[in-house]
Amino acid sequence: MPFYFYAYYPNPKVTLHRGECRFCKQGKGMQPGKLGYITGRWRGGYLSLELALEAAQSIGQGLGVEPTYCQRCRPETAILSDPIISDSASSAHSRSQIKRPGGKTL
Ligand SMILES: [Zn+2]
Repeated sequence: MPFYFYAYYPNPKVTLHRGECRFCKQGKGMQPGKLGYITGRWRGGYLSLELALEAAQSIGQGLGVEPTYCQRCRPETAILSDPIISDSASSAHSRSQIKRPGGKTL
C-alpha cells in the first residue's frame, strides 16, 4: 500500500494520504483542475508511511508547516495496524522520530 502526500502552496499545507484514498487516487487525485494552473504537487508513492512522512516533513519545513493526515483515509492508522513495525525492530529509531501533528481525531 503506497503512501502519498500533497504539498499545497498558496496556503501552505502538506497532507499525507494512502494511495487508495479517493482524494489521492495513487497520486492523480488533485490534478490541476478547471483553472489550469498548479497549486500544489503530489509526491509518492512511498512504500511506507514512515518514508512518506519523512519526505513530507522535509517539504513541510520548507513551507513552514507541519504535515497533517488526511481525515478520510487516516494514513496514520497504518502505523498502528502494521505488524511489521515494532519497537524491537531496527526501525524503532526512525519510528520514535515520527511526529503526529495535530493529534486530531474525528
Ligand atoms: Zn486521503
